[in-house]
Amino acid sequence: MGLLSQGTPLDWADAVPHAESIRADGLTQVINVFKSASARKNDPRLWGDEIEGVLVNLDEQGKAARLGLRAGRVLDKLMAEEEDIKATGRTPVALWRPEYGRYMLECTPGSPYGPHVKDLLQVEPNMVARREMISGHLRPNERLLTITTFPRLGALAAPVSSLAEGAVDPGPQMAPEAEVAPFTEPWHPQHGDAAHSLFAPDELINTHPRFRTLTANIRQRRGAKVCVAVPVFRDTNTPWPFRDGPYPVTPHPVDGAPPADLPAGQIYMDSMCFGMGNCCLQTTFQASCIAEARRLYDQMIPLTPVLMAVSAAAPIWRGYLADIDCRWNQISASVDDRTRRERGLEPYPADGPAGYVIGKSRYGSVDSYLEASSDRFNDLPLVMNEPARERLEAAGVPAPIARHLAHLFIRDPLVLYRELLVQDNAHSTDHFENIQSTNWQTMRFKPPPLAPLTPPSIVPSVAASAMPSPTGEGPSSGEAIAAPVVNLPPPTVDAPKQDQQETEEDYCLEGPLGWRVEFRSLEVQFTEFENAAFAVFTALLARLIVEGVRCPTTGTTRHVDFRMPITLVDENLERAHRRGAVLTEKFHFRRDSIVDGDDGGSQAATSEDVRASPEDVAAARDLLEEQSAGRIVAETIIPLIRQYLDAAGGLAPEQRATLDRYLDLVAGRASGRYQTNAAWIRDFVRAHPAYKQDSHVSDEINFDLMRAISAISSPSHAADYPTPADLAAGLPALNTERLWGSLPRPVAAARFAPLSDPETSGCASSAASSTEGIILSAPPSATSRAAAATAAAAAASS
Ligand code: ADP
Ligand code: MG
Ligand code: MG
Repeated sequence: MGLLSQGTPLDWADAVPHAESIRADGLTQVINVFKSASARKNDPRLWGDEIEGVLVNLDEQGKAARLGLRAGRVLDKLMAEEEDIKATGRTPVALWRPEYGRYMLECTPGSPYGPHVKDLLQVEPNMVARREMISGHLRPNERLLTITTFPRLGALAAPVSSLAEGAVDPGPQMAPEAEVAPFTEPWHPQHGDAAHSLFAPDELINTHPRFRTLTANIRQRRGAKVCVAVPVFRDTNTPWPFRDGPYPVTPHPVDGAPPADLPAGQIYMDSMCFGMGNCCLQTTFQASCIAEARRLYDQMIPLTPVLMAVSAAAPIWRGYLADIDCRWNQISASVDDRTRRERGLEPYPADGPAGYVIGKSRYGSVDSYLEASSDRFNDLPLVMNEPARERLEAAGVPAPIARHLAHLFIRDPLVLYRELLVQDNAHSTDHFENIQSTNWQTMRFKPPPLAPLTPPSIVPSVAASAMPSPTGEGPSSGEAIAAPVVNLPPPTVDAPKQDQQETEEDYCLEGPLGWRVEFRSLEVQFTEFENAAFAVFTALLARLIVEGVRCPTTGTTRHVDFRMPITLVDENLERAHRRGAVLTEKFHFRRDSIVDGDDGGSQAATSEDVRASPEDVAAARDLLEEQSAGRIVAETIIPLIRQYLDAAGGLAPEQRATLDRYLDLVAGRASGRYQTNAAWIRDFVRAHPAYKQDSHVSDEINFDLMRAISAISSPSHAADYPTPADLAAGLPALNTERLWGSLPRPVAAARFAPLSDPETSGCASSAASSTEGIILSAPPSATSRAAAATAAAAAASS
């Protein structure tokens, strides 16, 4: 996410009366954007990544890893450095920004990457430089880990009560003696006023008041705490039927208790931190014009589930191994602010005004394609703000985009600042961004901002003050949080409001940012090598979509088309969550993704037609076949990308080899040749001598897991794990071979030779060859662990 505004956030009751006028102004603003920027052409195809990470404290004495709540302090220092560098007229290598958790940090390159293939080679070194930048600001026992979930967030001190054989399940239980194990440094009690969580203290929320308000307002709008539940992984000794709990007794009588109908077999979570407190990897691409942005958006949508599965990295939730590997649905549930009526659980009163019944949380998958020719794939009924759609279309916004925006505008703005309620709609996109950036979808269509009257002022930052934009140019659309930028002197609250029509016409000319799309489904990886590989893969995918590929035999350029009925993309997203999805699931995908010339799409969309006809859907389904991630990514897309690179040329052999190494990694992950981070984590836990095959990830196991990830991810922490004594004690070796095989060593690991070099390290003896089974069907036996450990210890000490 980008900037945070300064101001006084309104509580829910105070915010509600403003919702309609904020939406009206937001519409005016986005209409002004379309008037100002629809004709933009030839913007450079710049792009950039965002990586989120968490601060973890390693307590060697107590053998525990805890979330460090000091990220704000670290950010202050990094942002002060940024200011110093900018003051000398230079561009910082990287930008660091706050995120939802007080233990989280987000980083991006200091300025976007350039449009050339060679620019892809900057990505990994830039990511490595970011880790070097932050390392000077961390305490000796602090680590920045780029992990999707922190395994022990909200874990109980005494976990898992099993039900007696044949006993009636009493449902979730609370008990006075039940406690949450400490998992933050410093420790804070749970049950805060914002989240009402049984498991997580409000103190782990970023100190900027926006985040607390957002947490509380979501809960209040919904009328209850959020409910996040994931199926537990059933291991050989997992108490079954599994009944998570008992939970601590809540001091919040109205919405503090877990839902009585929570089924057995689930890991229960109850607050925003279990979703927005997780990390991800995102990439944003600027298109040369709006038409190109629409094409990129539509073509990338079908890839979001498959690539999430390939990047899977989230197998542990609240201290248990789960039967899923990915984060998306949990984040959806963690910010689901829909009322019971909106969720369709209760009817609207017959004598009152009708309201929306909405199929998905505001954090969800994309609901509609944007190109006119994609309308035949739009088979999901779209709930729209009808007056908004009419206004957008009347203003000339193309029908599919008007529908998309009108769909976003069914939501309420969640956090409003008293001082920023009135905006200059000719120069600000604040209110539009407020709605846009709390509609968190797998792809985001990012219109350019209106140019502000004055350049953004940079306020020296703390997590709790205004932040400059990464580009210094205007509003960021925010990741986790709607983050309107302070780029205008706030108008006085009682300033006369301009007439809407007049304001729509009186917009400011376009600013320097163009039409962009953001790919948002990737899970963050342990190392810079892996994050660079996935980021570069999406960048090459974007080029393939935009430029097509020249056929080596005929010399003609051919184009890809991945579109499919959008309801099937949703089905794929469900499948992508499942444990080991890359190995066991099939995804709907085009049998043939190459089209020659125009794909014969239907003509301009009509405004009435919001659903593809049954004939359209049947025809679109005929193009599909259920395929493995390996077939889609490794056998279809990557060969096309290689053809694209062959035709593009211009790379020295070693440069091409670097890109090929990234493609090899992504292909290997998709096809199961290498393990996903999720599979690696699961294996690590199951091979740990303290693991009792009961799905429970104890503090001790978590400590060793965090040490292992720290050692893998940072050259300066290579010594974290494993010591010969660790290995002799039977701990699983690092086994990076399974993550990326024997590919030439990644940049980040290159200085990590003592441990990662198969000749000399503990990895060598225990690393499975890359052709061996990748997911353990059962944990390695104690004898094989002991044998591996002895050999590893011998190797390590030689
Ligand atoms: P978000 O809206 O997702 O919070 P930003 O829009 O601030 O984030 O930035 C997301 C990414 O976009 C960063 O990697 C940044 O480098 C990149 N970026 C910034 N400007 C451009 C641009 N003009 N074109 C493409 N990418 C850009
Ligand atoms: Mg973010
Ligand atoms: Mg983002």
